[in-house]
Amino acid sequence: MNKLLHIFTFSPVQGFISNSRRLSDLYHSSLLLSTLTEKLMKVIKDLNTEIIYPVLVENGQDLANYPNRIVFLADKCICKDLIKNFQELWEVVYETILRRVLDEVGISKEEKEKIEEQAKMHLENYFRAYCECTNSEEVKKWKEKLKQNLGEDYDDYAVAYDWTERKLGALKSQKPYEPLIDAYTYNGGKHPDGCTLCGERAHLAVDWKKLIENLQKEDRLKYIKHYLKEGEKLCGVCLVKRFAFYCLKRQTFPSVHDIANAKFKEELKDFEQRRPDLANRLKSLLKKRTGEEKPRLWEYNAELFDIKELERTKMEEGDPEGVIDDLISELRQIYDDKSLSKPSKNYFAIIISDGDSIGDWLGLKSERRKDKLEKTFHETFSKALSNYAREIKSLESEEKFGLRIVYAGGDDVLAVADLREFLDFAGKLNPIFKEKVGENASVSAGIVIGHQKDNLAYLLNEARKAEKKAKSVEGKSAFCITIIPRGGGPVSFWAKWEFLNLFKDTVEYFEKEIIGDRTVYDIKDIAGKLEASKEKPMEIVLALLRGMLKRRVDKNKLEEHLRKEKRVFIEEYLQELRKLLDISDLENLANLFYTARFVAKERREKKHETVGANT
Ligand SMILES: [Zn+2]
Ligand SMILES: [Zn+2]
Repeated sequence: MNKLLHIFTFSPVQGFISNSRRLSDLYHSSLLLSTLTEKLMKVIKDLNTEIIYPVLVENGQDLANYPNRIVFLADKCICKDLIKNFQELWEVVYETILRRVLDEVGISKEEKEKIEEQAKMHLENYFRAYCECTNSEEVKKWKEKLKQNLGEDYDDYAVAYDWTERKLGALKSQKPYEPLIDAYTYNGGKHPDGCTLCGERAHLAVDWKKLIENLQKEDRLKYIKHYLKEGEKLCGVCLVKRFAFYCLKRQTFPSVHDIANAKFKEELKDFEQRRPDLANRLKSLLKKRTGEEKPRLWEYNAELFDIKELERTKMEEGDPEGVIDDLISELRQIYDDKSLSKPSKNYFAIIISDGDSIGDWLGLKSERRKDKLEKTFHETFSKALSNYAREIKSLESEEKFGLRIVYAGGDDVLAVADLREFLDFAGKLNPIFKEKVGENASVSAGIVIGHQKDNLAYLLNEARKAEKKAKSVEGKSAFCITIIPRGGGPVSFWAKWEFLNLFKDTVEYFEKEIIGDRTVYDIKDIAGKLEASKEKPMEIVLALLRGMLKRRVDKNKLEEHLRKEKRVFIEEYLQELRKLLDISDLENLANLFYTARFVAKERREKKHETVGANT
C-alpha cells in the first residue's frame, strides 16, 4: 500500500445539536454539520485521493446524511491542509449567515460591526478539527510489533487503520483549553448574561428586545419574524444555528406540536377537500396571523389550530387587530359542529439509534467481522452503512406526518415520531441494519416519550441515556423506552429487540381494553410484595400474575378483538412474560405495563377516556 491512510474528524457534534429549543434548531444544526462534511469531502475528492468512508452521494444535499468523520487514502500527508480547509469552510458558512441576519435586523452599522466581532470570537474556534495519517515506515514498524505481540500478520490496510486511529485518539485527548474573554457591553456599559439557548457563552451584546421588535416590524421579513421568541438572547453560535437555513436550502421542519398531532394534520388535509369554504376562511385568517401564505392548510403549524394555545398567545402578546379572536371563534365553530376534531395530543417520541460495536467491526481482531480487515472490506462496509441510512431516510414521506428523520448518517439515526408511528419505525431499524450490513450486525435504540412543552435538550439527553441503557444489555441489540410523564419522573422499560412485539401487543391490549388499566397497579403491588423476599421462585411469580390476569382480562373484549378464549390468551401471554423475566426483573416487568399503558392512553381519543374504566 503506497498511499497514506488518513482519518479526519471534528468536534463538538453532540453539544452542537443538543442545545436546541425547537425541532427545526435540531434539524438545521444536524444539516449544517452534514453539509460541512459534504463540502470537505468534495475538497478531498479533488485532491487525487480515494475516499473510503463515508460514501459521497451525488446530490445528497439536504439529507443530513454525513457523519463527522472521513477516512481516505492520499499520496502524501494532507492533514494540515485539510484542517485549514475545514476552518475556512466553516468560516464561509458562519460569515454568510451572520451577514444575512445582521443585515436584516435593522441595527446601526457601528453596532453591526461590534456584534459581528463578538460573534466571530464565539464561532472561529468553536469546532476543533483533527486529522492524522500513517506513512509506510510507521506501517512497517507497527506491523512488526503486532506480529511479535499478537503472533499475527495483518494486512497493511488494517495496520495503518489501527495505528492512525490510535494517533487520533491521543490527539483528541489532549484538548487545549482556550478561555473566551468576552468584554463586550451594550446599552451603555451593560454586560451580557449567558446565552438563553446554550448557556455556554455570553449572549451577543445587543439590545435583544429592540432587535426582536425590529424583526417583527419589517414587512419583507414576515417569514422569519417569529424566528426569535421574546426573551431570547443568543450567543454567536446559537444565532448561526437558528438562522442556518440562510446557507442551506431553506426547508421547514415540523414542530413538536405538529409531530404529536400528526393525526390531526392528516385530518386537516381531508377537511380542506371536504370543506373548501371553511378551509379558505381559515387560511386567510392564518395568513393574517402569521404573515405567511401557505398553499395548503396543513402546512401551518398545528399549534395555530389549538384554541388553548391561541388564548395563551393572546394573553402574552395581546391582539390589537382582533385576528386571534377571529381565528378562535372560527375554530370553535368548526370543532363544535364536528367538521374537524381538535388537535389534542401532547406527547411525541424521539428515537436515537446507532450500530452496536462499530469500533469492533473495524478492529484488528473482530468477533463480528468474518472477513479480514482490508481496504475492500472497509469499502463494502461503508457502502452498507450508506445504504442503511438511505433506506431509513426513505421511510419518511411528506404525506406521512407522524415520522420525520432528523438525521440518518452512517449507522446513526435520530428521528421524531408520533405515538402511532414510533413503534413501527423502531421495529424496522434492526432488521434493515442486518439486511444491509450482515446477520452479525445489530443496532440498539433509545426512545423517549416526552411532552411537547418539555425542554427539548432535556428530552434529547434522556433519549441518549435510554440508548446507553439499551447498549448495556448483554449482547446489545436492544431498546429502551423511557416515558417522561408531565410532572413525574422518567420510567424506563428495556429489552432485546425480540421483545418489541410483546411491548406492541401489551399496548394493543390496553388500547382495546382487553386488559384493564388497573393491571399496572396490580403488577406494581406484586413486584413490591416480592421485592422484600429474597427468593422469587418463578412459579410463585407466575401464579400471582395468572391470578391477576384472570381478574383483569375482559372476556368480551378479547372475543371481540382477538377471537380468543380467555384461558388460552392468559397462558400464552404468561409464556411471553416469563421469557422477559428470564432476562430481567419484576421491576422491568412492572415498567413494561406502565409504559405500554401510557402509550395506549395517549393514543386513545380523549373522549373515550373514562377514569377507572374496566377495572
Ligand atoms: Zn498527515
Ligand atoms: Zn448559545
